[in-house]
Amino acid sequence: MARPSHMVVDLAALISNYQWACKLAPKAQTMAIVKANAYGHGAVACATALQPYAPAFGVACIEEALALRAAGIHKPILLLEGTFTADEVAVAAEHDFWLMVEDPLQVDAVLTAHVSKPVKVWIKIDTGMHRLGLAPARVQGYYQQLVASPNTCEKIVFATHFASADETNNHFTLVQVQLFMDTAKRFKQHISLANSAAIMAWPQAHGDWNRAGFMLYGNSPLDANHPSSKGLQPVMQVNSAIMSLRLIAAGECVGYAQQWCAQRPSVIATVAIGYGDGYPRNADTGTPVLVNGKRAKVVGRVSMDMITIDVTDHGAVQIGDKVCLWGKDLNINEVAGHAGTIGYELMTRVTQRLPISYTH
Ligand SMILES: *Cc1c(COP(=O)(O)O)cnc(C)c1O
Repeated sequence: MARPSHMVVDLAALISNYQWACKLAPKAQTMAIVKANAYGHGAVACATALQPYAPAFGVACIEEALALRAAGIHKPILLLEGTFTADEVAVAAEHDFWLMVEDPLQVDAVLTAHVSKPVKVWIKIDTGMHRLGLAPARVQGYYQQLVASPNTCEKIVFATHFASADETNNHFTLVQVQLFMDTAKRFKQHISLANSAAIMAWPQAHGDWNRAGFMLYGNSPLDANHPSSKGLQPVMQVNSAIMSLRLIAAGECVGYAQQWCAQRPSVIATVAIGYGDGYPRNADTGTPVLVNGKRAKVVGRVSMDMITIDVTDHGAVQIGDKVCLWGKDLNINEVAGHAGTIGYELMTRVTQRLPISYTH
């Protein structure tokens, strides 16, 4: 008795991907980014598995960091977006959270907080992403205030974030690296630039700290087949099964809005997964799935609880046969491409309804 749809998370692959990120940048310390519930894989389970290896973790906000502390994660945790309200500074100091400081209000919050012990700050420089970060020309002034403050640890890290590091031919990453180095180098503090794409494709951007996210989960953010992908193994596997089968005649249509109509007599299998589980509703007709390990195609609209696939050319299939939506043998980026999005989004939007089991 059970709906067959579930996620399997391979924690051994997660650890191996983390070690691969370290190997690609042997001089850097590699922080494991586990924001957004570890990209949908379960933040507590993933951070617990990585804790013996990773010197620090990164999350988006203090709520995520507190949840990890409550679950026994004791390594430092960087809040990648810093504080949202000034009262978070004291909580961060208390719990050994590191604070990204990325705008003048956040600088002020750190300088004026009442903290039980100094907080470790990372200064984010806006080198061209133009989303977060201090303007390069203002960095020195804010740095001097922060470094002189009794509220901060003496060691400060300078950081920046890339806009286009996944495009291996895009020169803009080097423009950002240059502006960052020109701005930060003179302070002789630790530096941090690289996300997954830069760890994999831009060795010039390796710093004292790298920030590995997506690659830890075993897929490449790069736009081309790149040699540094070869050490990655997908961690997330989403599986379901065929729950119904029918023969339809040529000209008959399948699903909501009768969006797909058979050109030939067809065998349609209904699979127990839909957008209520996080399978993208805009996955087009032709999106690949694996039935018993062999490729088939989604046809017609994705429903909340089900999808329909064409198994006419599959020979003997039956109710209960295993269907893989993405995982080790079906790349999540390929599925995402059929839905007009990226693997990052498919991972993070899997819903609570899909039970997760962990293998080690
Ligand atoms: C999410 C995030 C990362 C990790 O990016 P990936 O592309 O997933 O490796 C690194 N740095 C910052 C500031 C982030 O927000």
